[in-house]
Amino acid sequence: MFALPDLPYAYGALEPVISERTLRLHHDKHHGAYVNALNTLLEPTGDSSTALEDVILEASRATDRKLFNNAAQALNHSFFWIAMSAGRELPSGTLAVAIDAAFGGLAGLKTAFIAEGAAHFGSGWVWLAADQIGGLRVLATHDANDTLSHAGLTPLLVCDLWEHAYYLDHQNDRKGYLDAWFDVLPSWEFASAQYAAAEGRSAPWRHPAPTPAPLQHKAA
Ligand code: MN
Repeated sequence: MFALPDLPYAYGALEPVISERTLRLHHDKHHGAYVNALNTLLEPTGDSSTALEDVILEASRATDRKLFNNAAQALNHSFFWIAMSAGRELPSGTLAVAIDAAFGGLAGLKTAFIAEGAAHFGSGWVWLAADQIGGLRVLATHDANDTLSHAGLTPLLVCDLWEHAYYLDHQNDRKGYLDAWFDVLPSWEFASAQYAAAEGRSAPWRHPAPTPAPLQHKAA
């Protein structure tokens, strides 16, 4: 079974862009519910060792939408938390060079990222991702869809576009949320590590592995 990963910072650490109240609800209730539903769906299969990435790809192949949605949302949220930082960072190294090449600099990337996220209709996610030759692109995915189905793409950053991510703090102003988010919350250190993986210099982030389900003690 999969555990709900702890946040890598305190609940209040992302204020004022993401309030403590939002983060408690978002992590404990929304993300927690996806993880619980995922575990319930996997229970009858008796499978307690398949990596979450493989659960998602197999559910996608089998067009098992319920399993796919909960598994992908479990992964997307874990990635979202770890790709944010409580302290403001800036891109560096080869990633900074790639941002200059693709967007003319960080301001150009910010404009593209906000435009993609603000224009996205309905729920979903906006990503910064790298292809296998180090090129960068911004893309949005609908609902639970992630970047696993895009062969050769490595995600570097993501921002949650579901209303539960921003409505308490920014109400209907998704663009304002994205603007504030982009300036202070991306973990460029994490993005750089992912970029190194896209370039084949290291391994990409993987979701924490499942642990064996506790033994069921049945009455004799
Ligand atoms: Mn969410």
